[in-house]
Amino acid sequence: MIEEQIVGRGLRDRRLLDALERVPRHLFVPPSSRFAAYDDAPLSIDFGQTISQPYIVALMTSLLELAGHERVLEIGTGSGYQAAILGKLAAEVHTLEIVPELAARAARLLGRLGLDRVTVHLGDGGLGWPTAAPYAAIVITAASERVPEPLLEQLAEGGRLVAPVASGDGAEWLTLIKAERGKLIEHKIASVAFVPLRGKYGWRARN
Ligand code: SAH
Repeated sequence: MIEEQIVGRGLRDRRLLDALERVPRHLFVPPSSRFAAYDDAPLSIDFGQTISQPYIVALMTSLLELAGHERVLEIGTGSGYQAAILGKLAAEVHTLEIVPELAARAARLLGRLGLDRVTVHLGDGGLGWPTAAPYAAIVITAASERVPEPLLEQLAEGGRLVAPVASGDGAEWLTLIKAERGKLIEHKIASVAFVPLRGKYGWRARN
């Protein structure tokens, strides 16, 4: 998986590759899809949700440029896989999930793997997690029409936010937003497809 899908597509950061190597992805997918856990594809988990393709997890993580000392916020815990990768690369990770069963299951698995830098919170991620703000890095793993305002407010000066954001024609772009000298600078990275964000800032037309 790492050689072909990640290094083969140009992501070579040693810390990122180590993190991918150390998180057993097969534990994050349902038993019936375990044989496909390391395939170059997203997989269905439960409740109509998905675990992203390994390359997309790696790409989003690399855009956050984590050095190890950061506090990170993830919206959309899902299986907990992305949170586990972040937990290997940052000091403190808060991840929010809106489906109670998924939040509980991910918290159990992350605990079992000893990923104690990751805390799973049940709630609407569009509102962020103000208690631990600001965050040097924020990643949203569900698509919306625009990045929820509370998340932009919880981004630290110098911070990076990565999210799939809808463009006018209904397509989704993986978007990187950097908070630089009081301004938000946006870069479009790649065309992607994610499940829709729900909740107060959700993508209404898709829910
Ligand atoms: N990062 C996940 C993949 C997430 S799929 C992984 O590594 O497996 C998107 C997830 O976002 C789903 O679990 C969905 O339930 C959750 N979600 C959707 N809207 C949300 C919201 N407003 N707040 C928190 N979680 C949300």
